[in-house]
Amino acid sequence: MTTSTAQEGASEAAAIYPPPQRLVNPENGVKPWCSSMEEYETLYKESINEPTKFWTRVANELITWDKPFTRVSQGSLKDGDMAWFPDGQLNISYNCVDRWALQDPERVAFVYEADAPGEASKVTYGELLKQVCSLANVLTSFGLRKGDTVAIYMPMIPEAAVAMLACARLGLVHTVVFAGFSSSSLAERVADARARVVITADEGLRGGRPIRTKAIVDEALLTCPEVEKVLVFRRTGNEAVAFNPDRDVWWHEAIASQRPYCPPVSVSSEDPLFLLYTSGSTGKPKGVVHTTGGYLLGAAMTLKYVFDIHDGDVFCCTADIGWITGHTYVVYGPLALGSTSVIFESVPTFPDASRYWKLVEDHKITQFYTAPTAIRALRRHGDSYVTKHDLSSLRVIGSVGEPINPDAWTWYNNIVGGGKCAVVDTYWQTETGSHVITPLPGATPAKPGSATFPFFGVELAILDPQTGEELEGNDVSGVLAIKRPWPSMARTIAGDHKRFLETYLRPYPGYYFAGDGASRDADGYYWIRGRVDDVINVSGHRMSTAEVESALICHPAVAESAVVGAPDELTGQAICAFVTLKDGIEATDDVKVELVKEVRHRIGPIATPKTLILVDELPKTRSGKIIRRILRKVVAGEADTLGDLSTLSDPSILDVLISKVAAAL
Ligand code: ATP
Ligand code: MG
Repeated sequence: MTTSTAQEGASEAAAIYPPPQRLVNPENGVKPWCSSMEEYETLYKESINEPTKFWTRVANELITWDKPFTRVSQGSLKDGDMAWFPDGQLNISYNCVDRWALQDPERVAFVYEADAPGEASKVTYGELLKQVCSLANVLTSFGLRKGDTVAIYMPMIPEAAVAMLACARLGLVHTVVFAGFSSSSLAERVADARARVVITADEGLRGGRPIRTKAIVDEALLTCPEVEKVLVFRRTGNEAVAFNPDRDVWWHEAIASQRPYCPPVSVSSEDPLFLLYTSGSTGKPKGVVHTTGGYLLGAAMTLKYVFDIHDGDVFCCTADIGWITGHTYVVYGPLALGSTSVIFESVPTFPDASRYWKLVEDHKITQFYTAPTAIRALRRHGDSYVTKHDLSSLRVIGSVGEPINPDAWTWYNNIVGGGKCAVVDTYWQTETGSHVITPLPGATPAKPGSATFPFFGVELAILDPQTGEELEGNDVSGVLAIKRPWPSMARTIAGDHKRFLETYLRPYPGYYFAGDGASRDADGYYWIRGRVDDVINVSGHRMSTAEVESALICHPAVAESAVVGAPDELTGQAICAFVTLKDGIEATDDVKVELVKEVRHRIGPIATPKTLILVDELPKTRSGKIIRRILRKVVAGEADTLGDLSTLSDPSILDVLISKVAAAL
């Protein structure tokens, strides 16, 4: 694949932001874990050239093993039989809870910010240990044993993390399903995972509104006869919630009769810890399986280096625990480091668009991690919601989930970070378990929109999509691949190893295929260009969706955009852009003309959208990612075969979308 003019344009124009002085030379003298590019390069080289030495050191530094490993890894990407620390044994809940509870029981594990503003509480490590143990004893009393699967369908409350850790304590496999999924999506996942027990709550609360959590579980289980027990946490206490005494058990009643200690079950490093369904941006979600030792190491090590966690820090990741980001960076990563993690139950715009920033001020959050969708949504509301709060506690602010458009990056850096924080644009996937491409706050000069460089142990390659040949050197574009196994990578897809091989390891034998397009610019920085399936081909020029979207969002009227290829007789494909406007901006033809001009000006005539449609909402997954495959189908006139829509956040937008497209094309 040849480098397109569009892609060259962005990398050349990019400004470089050195790591903030405040991090490199901190007043308190606490240096970042990695404080220069030389240090990064030394460690990176060691991780690649002397992997046994490197991994032995970090795995013993960050993890307490019940039985030490003697081998670091085995297996290959070619055969799909990777294993890490295979003869080591450990327990994750011991690592995440007991270690700190024994040393310092009063240390805060979770700060819980409830849905209602001002309603916050804390869970110490000492309390957490008791809660996890009591719940583990309840699960044992249900007859669950190592290797059994438990589904968790809960709001963002500390008990959701307690449920995960109780499973891990017993060697049970958890599968957390985001509690915004419908009953049929939940049923599909519970059945696919073969869960025997579901842990849930009576109701959830989001933005002041109750969510019928337990009722959704009841509906789902009509088609899941193999589920024996449903454990129900009382969140709101609404007495109208149905309760089936033959199957349902109240959480508070069950733990009251259990001893608050339970010995951790030592498991193999390669025993499964959880399975988790991907977001479903590109099709039917995959039940990705993660194992124990390698996953924990990835979680702990990335959090330590990428967010530069030190004693006393308060880390806040706004992702729901129903997604991989919530698993790795709300629960396992922070607790593995003995740090304090914020659990945020609400939404960023409740009661108004300053909720996140009030959260930062109230809890003196030091690292804040969110998604481009939230950043774009909050930017749409204007700066005053941010600037009225004292955000001086922040040192590192992160982004994950989609490419962050340079303009949104700059807003995040200037307005939220006050120009004094490191911005870490972290690229990773459900399948990678932890960050794979990311800046390190005290070391990496950032370029807005680039995830920068590989994390330790991750050996990247850019492949020619047609030939599979590796493109050497800089200034190349193609598909992103990883050349060797890394500890926190997924091991399989639940019940379908063949699909695992076919999706990730067979497309380019010997490589892990990420499914994303990427380029490496003249300075060696990596730029994620969007999904391989989303690449647009106009008269033979391959165009990245991320590029055109980033140009559109530079226009002050634009809140968000999604770009897809529409079939075109003349050019093969033509660019079709969907745009939402900022609050208070009227959708006129003049605006459309201006937006098309903006793209021509920023990228060039080749990227001119042939059609530009102003919409109120873009189709998104429940985790907030734009689903371009739906737009692609609609513009191709295939709205009757949209495929798996279980992850579509708001299906009611489809009708309007289809009629707008019909009118425009
Ligand atoms: P599915 O695999 O079911 O289609 P999904 O890929 O959206 O869903 P996730 O594992 O949640 O599921 O998301 C991983 C993907 O998110 C990556 O492959 C990439 O496309 C995108 N992504 C995540 N972080 C970044 C980032 N920092 N920059 C660019 N893209 C990102
Ligand atoms: Mg994916």
